[in-house]
Amino acid sequence: MANLLEVQQATKRFGNFTALHDVSIQVPKGSIFGLLGPNGAGKTTLIRIVNQITLPDEGSVYLDNEFLKPEHIKDIGYLPEERGLYKSMKVGEQALYLAQLKGLSKSEAKERLKYWFEKFDIIHWWDKKIQELSKGMAQKVQFIVTVLHKPKLLIFDEPFSGFDPINANVIKDEILHLRDEGATVIFSTHRMESVEELCDHIALINKSKKILDGKVTDIKRAYKSNTFEVGILAENNNELYTDLQTKFVDVVPADFKAIDDQLKMKITLGNSTSSNELLQYLSNKGQILRFNEVIPTVNEIFIKTITDIENE
Ligand code: ADP
Ligand code: MG
Repeated sequence: MANLLEVQQATKRFGNFTALHDVSIQVPKGSIFGLLGPNGAGKTTLIRIVNQITLPDEGSVYLDNEFLKPEHIKDIGYLPEERGLYKSMKVGEQALYLAQLKGLSKSEAKERLKYWFEKFDIIHWWDKKIQELSKGMAQKVQFIVTVLHKPKLLIFDEPFSGFDPINANVIKDEILHLRDEGATVIFSTHRMESVEELCDHIALINKSKKILDGKVTDIKRAYKSNTFEVGILAENNNELYTDLQTKFVDVVPADFKAIDDQLKMKITLGNSTSSNELLQYLSNKGQILRFNEVIPTVNEIFIKTITDIENE
């Protein structure tokens, strides 16, 4: 798959402090790319480089195989982390103004804004002043303005912060929809647990360095350990538990919620043992109520990677 964006070995220093160290990313066309990592990791710095707000000290950026240049700004829709709208301007007036700055004609801007305002059910905000809106409401307006001119690359810096869970879901759905319509999306977040289902590619950034990147499915495949979460109603829980411990690589208690006192475990099989063998064994021992593979979350992978690096 061709890459829409490539950042090659970008380094950015502020005085003696290195905010970004030798970071490279490849963002495939049509992907949703998550830039994940704790506060202060360097995500915004990288995003500002791609948006040509800061220049890297070292490294280069390519958009659609061209060296990044000022003309590319119109190809990118950017929602900055520090949101900013003119507080005393009216919502509609301001949205129209910003849309025209992005090259839309007034009538085109009106038509597209109407579509989005109706979609978000906020048409009654049109004549309100920005200062009358809550933070989340203003953020919705800014999201619309970011995507309105249909740029090929959308970059959202912490798009979910400031939203309640319901509105965060609205934004998630819209991001998926924009991707389906052909946009390539990059977003950053420090809350890894809530967004992994959204990304198909990720880069994990920690303390200015990229510590892991790739396709989410490949990363998960590499980090999973042939472990299954099992719930079973057995005649004798203790006996079965002890028996399983002698047969499989690792058996530990699991703590999922269940309505009866079934035996709850996480069972790790050896590399040469298949899940069917475990299932067959269990099916003679009681009633199986749960059987699913344990797939590590991005957050767990992140923590493991950092721990491994620190123990090196
Ligand atoms: P993130 O977005 O991952 O939370 P940032 O890229 O905003 O992180 O910041 C990375 C580090 O660089 C932080 O320690 C931050 O304080 C520092 N930093 C960012 N911008 C500047 C700046 N203009 N001057 C000095 N330090 C900065
Ligand atoms: Mg940031």
